[in-house]
Amino acid sequence: MSFQTFRIGQLFVIKITAQSGYSLSNIMGQDAVIIESNDGNFIRSVVISIRRHHQPEVYLKPIFIQNFTPKKNSILHGLIDGFIFGEDDVKGIEEKSKDIFIRSLDLHPHTPPGDYSKVIKKAMDLMYTRQVRTLKPILDPYSIIGYSFPQVSVSFEQHEEPEVLNALDWAEMEGLIWPDFEEKIYLCNNCAGGLLSFREVCPHCKSSNTYGEDLVHHFPCAYIGPITDFQNNVNDTLSCPKCNKSLHHIGVDYDKPSVLNHCNTCDSRFQDIYVKAKCLNCETDTDVQYLQARDINTYKLTKKGRQSILQGMELSNHPNKIEITDIQSEETFETLLQFDLLRKQDDRVLLCGLNIENLNDFATHFGGFKKQSIIKEIAQVLKGEISPLDYLTLNSSGLFIWTRRLAKEDLSEQQTPYDIVERIQQLVNENFDQFNMKIKFIEKELSELKNAHEGVVDIKRLLLNE
Ligand SMILES: [Zn+2]
Ligand SMILES: [Zn+2]
Ligand SMILES: [Zn+2]
Repeated sequence: MSFQTFRIGQLFVIKITAQSGYSLSNIMGQDAVIIESNDGNFIRSVVISIRRHHQPEVYLKPIFIQNFTPKKNSILHGLIDGFIFGEDDVKGIEEKSKDIFIRSLDLHPHTPPGDYSKVIKKAMDLMYTRQVRTLKPILDPYSIIGYSFPQVSVSFEQHEEPEVLNALDWAEMEGLIWPDFEEKIYLCNNCAGGLLSFREVCPHCKSSNTYGEDLVHHFPCAYIGPITDFQNNVNDTLSCPKCNKSLHHIGVDYDKPSVLNHCNTCDSRFQDIYVKAKCLNCETDTDVQYLQARDINTYKLTKKGRQSILQGMELSNHPNKIEITDIQSEETFETLLQFDLLRKQDDRVLLCGLNIENLNDFATHFGGFKKQSIIKEIAQVLKGEISPLDYLTLNSSGLFIWTRRLAKEDLSEQQTPYDIVERIQQLVNENFDQFNMKIKFIEKELSELKNAHEGVVDIKRLLLNE
């Protein structure tokens, strides 16, 4: 390798070019890095590999770019420490690098475990050493959501940008950063990608091969028809096909009340056109009303955030994701069920199961995220009504099994019917465009089961029609 090392004042500097090559261990021993190149992709890859490194001795290194100006919306602006175009700029390197070094001595060395703690600590370390006060989004055509947060995004691949948003949500939930609204964006409800192609499509056949024309209403004779009925091949004048009079002034003798659309594919005519968004990442085509809305914020450090840079992060104990508690794994479920079988029951206990048979249709219609959330919601409904002694298990393909204890007083003559299936169907129908969820429901008396495992296997077999 033929990279150059030299001194600027007391500073040891390494200069990297496209020809010189470099290794991160060479960089670790230097005080600053200069990248000289006119190849934006090369500069980008060097900067990202330095900033993506796990050791602060590397990822905090001052980086300067010589003889290159990145595009306005390049992630580089958020990741480098300055530009060199002449001798004066070289002098500035020494002061800036020393300053970054001195500030880096204040940083707390440890990171607590947590989904995104390393990523957020790195971003905050970069902010503190550079005296940057906010995590600001930039418009970034390389990002699949269209935005990057350079100090955070650098820890992820470009197609992982939705994870950047999760990391920021996590930091916000931990009270380290505080959001200031910048923009609302819409993301694919299947992959959370933000590069979407919007089209107006025919409501009947979903083709985008459509055209619209004005409807014209002729006041004197009350005729309404598409504007082509009023046109002629000779000149621009309009005349009424019903009464043959010429049309003069819009608003006086005629108006254009709406637009009539035609589909060239299925030849239908309609007034309301659908708008669909096709995801350039996963190709899912979604009605725009089902896209996920997401706020893009600029984030400020909170007091807790500033403290955690210097004194270490103290994370709260609440789980990182919103999870439903009291849902058992299938193993635990069987163990609990086995205990119940061995115990003499005062109550009548039922083993219930339901399976959503068209969950895949639901997911195709509304996306993978909505599929997760409907499973969560159904679990909430079930949990809300079972007794504290009951328990529930489920899987991601829409199969739920739970126990249901009927206390003696419930066994009276006017027992209310168990309408769980209807209630879930109604919930889905009301919230998801009248989607008709097909649900298979089975219940068995606990007293009829031989053992827990066979009971669970049996109910699954019945639910899946095997
Ligand atoms: Zn997608
Ligand atoms: Zn059509
Ligand atoms: Zn007319």
